[in-house]
Amino acid sequence: MSNTVKGFDRWDLDSHISKAISDRGWEEPTEIQIEAIPHARKGRDVVGQAKTGSGKTAAFGIPAIERCEVKGKIQAIILCPTRELAVQVSEELVILQGEKGLNIETVYGGTDIEKQAKRLDAGADMVVGTPGRVIDMAKRGHLKMEDIELFCLDEADRMLDMGFFPDVLWIFERTVNREQTLLFSATFPQEVLEAAEEFLNDPVHVMSEDLEVEVPEIEQFAIKVGRANKLWALGRIIGNSGDGSQILVFTNTKRMVELIVERLGKFRFRAVGLHGDMPQNKRERVLDSFRDGSESIVVATDVAARGLDVDGITHVVNYDLPDDTEVYVHRIGRTGRMGKKGEAWSFATGAEVTLVDKICSTWGLEIPFTEPPALPDNRERDFIPRRDDWDEVSDYFGMVRVNMKIGESETTKRALIDWIVKESRIPEIAIGEVTSGDNETIVEIHVEKVAYVIDVIKGRDFLGHSLEPAIVNS
Ligand code: ADP
Ligand code: MG
Repeated sequence: MSNTVKGFDRWDLDSHISKAISDRGWEEPTEIQIEAIPHARKGRDVVGQAKTGSGKTAAFGIPAIERCEVKGKIQAIILCPTRELAVQVSEELVILQGEKGLNIETVYGGTDIEKQAKRLDAGADMVVGTPGRVIDMAKRGHLKMEDIELFCLDEADRMLDMGFFPDVLWIFERTVNREQTLLFSATFPQEVLEAAEEFLNDPVHVMSEDLEVEVPEIEQFAIKVGRANKLWALGRIIGNSGDGSQILVFTNTKRMVELIVERLGKFRFRAVGLHGDMPQNKRERVLDSFRDGSESIVVATDVAARGLDVDGITHVVNYDLPDDTEVYVHRIGRTGRMGKKGEAWSFATGAEVTLVDKICSTWGLEIPFTEPPALPDNRERDFIPRRDDWDEVSDYFGMVRVNMKIGESETTKRALIDWIVKESRIPEIAIGEVTSGDNETIVEIHVEKVAYVIDVIKGRDFLGHSLEPAIVNS
């Protein structure tokens, strides 16, 4: 190997691969590729660490493809934590092998098991899969492990944590003629490295020199906003994002994914959801349409979005912050890939402000608190109206004080409570203390019911008075 040869030519790769790479327009290998590929090509075990978006797939994919021949026997297996990742890795391998002709099969749950079995029976050279389905296929006799020479874990931190470890070990132990193990991940926490020992034989560790997360291409901001106005802030971000933007919004639960999509729709922002309970084919359709730009807003949970590679994402929004600070880094890693510019916005309710501080100190990041983007010049009305922020006006017990603007002389407290309960059909326990003076009667209503109650009783006739309930800010 000559050091004067630049680009991928330095390696004298399998000709199919070099052609595929140049057809694809890749000029230089990425840092992790430069570090890992030579060792992996020599057959060494490799533990490779590099941040999301740095080209790890090709770092293990190129040596894996070189190692396999068209034999109809599985010579390499690559395990991934989710179906989407398996599909994505497999697609990348198919491109990288060019005209080599390997049969690369993808094996994952949630789709027709018979079809996958048939394809495996026809003879695969490489398998990319999720552990559960791989085991299933092995047990049914469709996936033979005895010819496997190369065992690889993508997103190894996930694959070796408690959830997957037993399945991964089960598969590993059955690759009895294994010659090489490759583990790649964005992070290698100590306990994962310890668990990995079991899989490795005199490995080379190639970790990025600089373990600090480097994300200079991504501008990061945090907005302090109550729960009720996160949607308003999201409206500002979307409304200011400009043509051609690709926005990925993270929330923590499937239910919130659906709610946000629905609510955005009400304000004429078309968004699609992505979460683990959606059928596989639907998830793939969502991803495809996000990739090709026909959808520009995707709302997702972490599980569904982990490791996904969609080029051109311009904005990541943390509608809710993740509890685990590392998840934040994974999320924002979706933008600014391969040197592209990106923006990451995080919403923090009062209690979550310390979480932003924790993320900053753990990862050496700077995330300034700012206001949401202003309305564009030519626009007067908000994209999504700002609401009264009940959380901010509620007290320690979750009670919000509402003035009914009706004097002491005009009614009794009891009559007013009974009327509210009857009209709005809320349990009486949602009403707290009632205090009245000359021209006002203040009723405490629980924060979860208050918006609804105000809506129902506004303008309704109470003993000849039309009520005008108003929040008391104090
Ligand atoms: P990781 O697994 O480290 O998160 P990926 O393997 O998904 O990263 O690669 C991220 C993106 O970079 C993909 O779109 C991939 O095709 C592209 N890529 C990888 N290597 C190169 C390279 N040497 N030159 C240009 N683009 C590359
Ligand atoms: Mg990857």
